[in-house]
Amino acid sequence: MRIDIISVVPQLLESPFSHSILKRGIDKKLVEVNIINLRDFATDKHKTVDDYAYGGGAGMVMMIEPIAACIEDLRSKCTYDEIIYLSPDGELLDQKMANQLSTLKNVIMLCGHYKGIDQRIRDHFITREVSIGDYVLSGGELAAAVLADAMIRLIPGVISDETSALSDSFQDGLLAPPVYTRPADYKGLKVPEILLSGHNEQIEKWRHEQSIDRTKKRRPGLL
Ligand code: SAH
Repeated sequence: MRIDIISVVPQLLESPFSHSILKRGIDKKLVEVNIINLRDFATDKHKTVDDYAYGGGAGMVMMIEPIAACIEDLRSKCTYDEIIYLSPDGELLDQKMANQLSTLKNVIMLCGHYKGIDQRIRDHFITREVSIGDYVLSGGELAAAVLADAMIRLIPGVISDETSALSDSFQDGLLAPPVYTRPADYKGLKVPEILLSGHNEQIEKWRHEQSIDRTKKRRPGLL
């Protein structure tokens, strides 16, 4: 998979891809992540990428020219399955969408700022709009990092124990059961006996019951 992320604050995206599981995916060449600085496509000497909104009102709007030039430059070198704009009014990201997007080959993610981007970009260049939740962030970078993380960890080979990604919350419409590790007894706080029993079948049954119980209590809408 190749993910090209267009941003005016590329520094915000350095850390998420430089550590842990995402870094491992990149090192194993299972995914390539390129951060593109939108200011490189500005045409004036101040590297302007935003301007006042037509019709007035507070807040700047990201201009069509640098974004269009950047997307066209990328498209001249690669064919993309999706050009995604991160936006609070987009389709709400969930595990099903992450699963589907994780099978794509080449993706652009465009991060907005200020009041957002000129609507003409959304109408003519963007193929999909994704929101990471019903709240407003100051920029699309953190949202792009969230979306990319949710996609990359599902690529076979990125997580060493592949079944682990499949047993996460939401994958089977249920929340994950509680998990424990050593010590078995911490100052009297004990790990459930069943997990120490070695009876795999019974352990799986217990986990499934715990999942159902947790989902009923916390997210009944998923059932
Ligand atoms: N005026 C816009 C919000 C702009 S926030 C509105 O009311 O809809 C600035 C940028 O942050 C957006 O262009 C988008 O790229 C990003 N952003 C903010 N909240 C987001 C969310 N919940 N999901 C995805 N991207 C978001």
